Amino acid sequence: MAEVRLDNVTKTFPGGVTAVASCDLVIPDGQFTVLVGPSGCGKSTTLRMIAGLESPTGGTIRIGDRVVNHVQPRDRDVAMVFQNYALYPHMSVERNLRFPLERRRSTPLWKSIVSANARRRRAAETEAISARVAEAATQLEIDTYLHRLPRELSGGQRQRVALGRALVRDPKVFLLDEPLSNLDARLRLAMRTELRQLHRRLGATMIHVTHDQEEAMTLGDVLVVMKDGVIHQVGSPADIYGEPADRFVASFVGTPPMNLIEGSFQGGEFRSSSGALLPAPNHGDGAAVLGVRPEAIRVVASSGGSAHVVTIERLGDRMDVVLEVGGTRFTSRMEPMEIEEGASCAVDFTDSGLHVFDADEQGRRRPK
Ligand code: ATP
Repeated sequence: MAEVRLDNVTKTFPGGVTAVASCDLVIPDGQFTVLVGPSGCGKSTTLRMIAGLESPTGGTIRIGDRVVNHVQPRDRDVAMVFQNYALYPHMSVERNLRFPLERRRSTPLWKSIVSANARRRRAAETEAISARVAEAATQLEIDTYLHRLPRELSGGQRQRVALGRALVRDPKVFLLDEPLSNLDARLRLAMRTELRQLHRRLGATMIHVTHDQEEAMTLGDVLVVMKDGVIHQVGSPADIYGEPADRFVASFVGTPPMNLIEGSFQGGEFRSSSGALLPAPNHGDGAAVLGVRPEAIRVVASSGGSAHVVTIERLGDRMDVVLEVGGTRFTSRMEPMEIEEGASCAVDFTDSGLHVFDADEQGRRRPK
């Protein structure tokens, strides 16, 4: 296992697009780290640079103690799992699993033909490969369809074979590029659990790329939130959710997203641009953006009061309600209750779900 470290890493493609800009990042040994961000934020390019499939235009990449900038992908001791599985279609599951090990054999076939010693060595290697493949197949529960071709498998089974092909190599680092995004919603949930369990069993360094913030929150020990080639925040899911570094992270993480209300503090009160007076931790006078988590808004009386119920989406164990307070709209998430669209109600805001951000372009969160 190994730590992965990026120091001041930049990737500018020949056309001039800077996909990753001066990135400093330490990916801890043995942790499940998720690179997450909207499409085009540079997460796949970062992963591909760690794999050696792209070379950085600046900076240093280390795996363990070794600088790998000029090390060939196959010598980096990493294994990559792709979204499209990248299995060999004409090979059985077993041959797909054996393939990465066969390629790394130290005794070539021709030597085993001409030398008895080499023959014995090759036979021992073959036995070791078979044992390794059997072990990985059992771990991933694909041992019952080793004889099948990839096209004879479901999407989830194929993805497990792709994981198995990484697993047999016992790499220092697993690199997972959107491995769940070709699966349907139910299977994706099941595979998330399997990935977590696999990680716990192996204790390996895993780096997973996804654009799905919910997948990132449920899978990662550490999240790296990126946008436009820049890392906005690195932290545990709880830190990222509870103390987002800036407005982008606040709006990207969480479903429904955080409500962000432009306005200003005057005399200790926050007034939204549309004129609503809202509760907020005091931050001195001047322009600011108030962030309100949907679950921080509670209806305390279902009739009367200054809030207006615009729409209600009932989701079984919870409901999403769009409320209007003094011309400002909020999405709230709460436990189901008797309330009608069009009604007036009184609402309350929980302090822990309120955040204040700078009104400038960076939008940093102000400490509470
Ligand atoms: P997605 O979720 O859509 O895969 P991503 O966050 O993984 O996006 P990257 O694939 O890393 O983003 O791309 C980052 C930026 O670099 C994008 O603007 C993309 O268009 C650009 N880019 C990626 N690969 C190349 C390339 N080979 N040549 C030129 N530009 C590229």
